[in-house]
Amino acid sequence: MRPQSPPSLFNTFARHIALPINDAVAGTDIVRRLRFFEKSQWWSPVDLQEYQDRRLRGVIERAYSTVPYYHDLFCSLGLLPSDIRTADDLLKLPVLTKDEVRQNPDAFLSRDVKKTTLIENATSGSTGQVFRFYTDRTNLSVSRAIALRAWNFSGYRVGDRMVTLAGSALLAENMSGSRKLQFALSRNMPLSSYHLDEKSVIDYISRIERFQPKYLRGYPTSIALLAEYVLERKLDTVHPVGIMTTAETLSKQQRSIISAAFGCEVFDQFGCLDGGAHACECDHHAGYHIAVERAVHEFLDMNGDPVAPGEEGRIVLTDLWNDAMPLIRYDAGDMGVPGDGACSCGRGLPLLEKVTGRTFEHIVLPDGRLVPSMVLTDVFEHGKVATAIADYQVVQEAKDRFIVILVANKDYAEGTTDVISQYMKEFLGFEPKITFSFVEEIPRTRANKRTIVVSRVDR
Ligand SMILES: [Zn+2]
Repeated sequence: MRPQSPPSLFNTFARHIALPINDAVAGTDIVRRLRFFEKSQWWSPVDLQEYQDRRLRGVIERAYSTVPYYHDLFCSLGLLPSDIRTADDLLKLPVLTKDEVRQNPDAFLSRDVKKTTLIENATSGSTGQVFRFYTDRTNLSVSRAIALRAWNFSGYRVGDRMVTLAGSALLAENMSGSRKLQFALSRNMPLSSYHLDEKSVIDYISRIERFQPKYLRGYPTSIALLAEYVLERKLDTVHPVGIMTTAETLSKQQRSIISAAFGCEVFDQFGCLDGGAHACECDHHAGYHIAVERAVHEFLDMNGDPVAPGEEGRIVLTDLWNDAMPLIRYDAGDMGVPGDGACSCGRGLPLLEKVTGRTFEHIVLPDGRLVPSMVLTDVFEHGKVATAIADYQVVQEAKDRFIVILVANKDYAEGTTDVISQYMKEFLGFEPKITFSFVEEIPRTRANKRTIVVSRVDR
């Protein structure tokens, strides 16, 4: 494991006093879960598989007895929960698409869970289709604990200063009081990756200089913009010990620019909230360690058969911790290549070689600057617009001209396009010509992938 300096007093306070208090206030269970996952990462692959199978049997049992959709599905297939004993047995069940959940979300809710305890989530994943689903506090605790464990792969400890540079998917614009407290106690400085022009890059760099974080975390495109600035100016004032990238594909070029600018390693991560996917690089950078205690991650070919290590497959997920709304063999729309063999770090967690097909193109501004498109998508995933539409795609036709393709849902409200226009104007810093086009469905590629933002402008 990466050599770590001893924990500071603040680390000790954050981990052993602040985090437990936060748990008590928020009704979560992060500390206990984190302690467990810190141990389980070192178990042997066989023990981890046994643990996963045991949890899976619980998920199947509960889904069959408390979730209408799964009860009917098992009956129609002539299956009983006892037919699914291991992750390999999941092949007996069909893959679940987002559309199936969207058509009748209530059928996926467990009868055992009180409506008042449900936590509503919305995500676009990497396919851009807005998707609403429910979890509970246990799921939230596990998800936070798995994330904290993954951050520790780079040496991070709870309480270390960190700057998060991202859109609202990671920052949660309307953060709850508890989340804000977590950010403060974890000394996490959020910087929005909206409006990343030269002025804001200069402002961010000076704020980062003053804050001197140990870690930078965020979208690779946003961090790469800061890195380019640092390299151009030959600045030597920001010295993080690690950088964590997530939510977009990290290119080799971005990795080397970021690493050169800040003089430290980049730890790339992959996650998907709706399916429970989580994988993260350790300091051996041999691939991404898959959090198998969190979810079953299957990699399937076009016929639905498992692919061999080294081959690309669509990632199909079974969250092992969502009692509220279990999704079994859920296709979140991501593609990846499973790895082979063990990592020399000694963790028993298997490897994901790479995530493929997570592409977010850049928007090219009239003055030639590139803006990561991921932040542009925020408006479609939150608030009024998210309720009004089922799917979307943004096409940049020319530097000042966009086509916004929308699939309206039954709650579509007049004025939605105005909200989008206003947001895009603010986001881009000028008034673009926007044409809205409403369609029944946004076409996909053969691999069931689609880019959320397409730019037809040459750089
Ligand atoms: Zn490793």
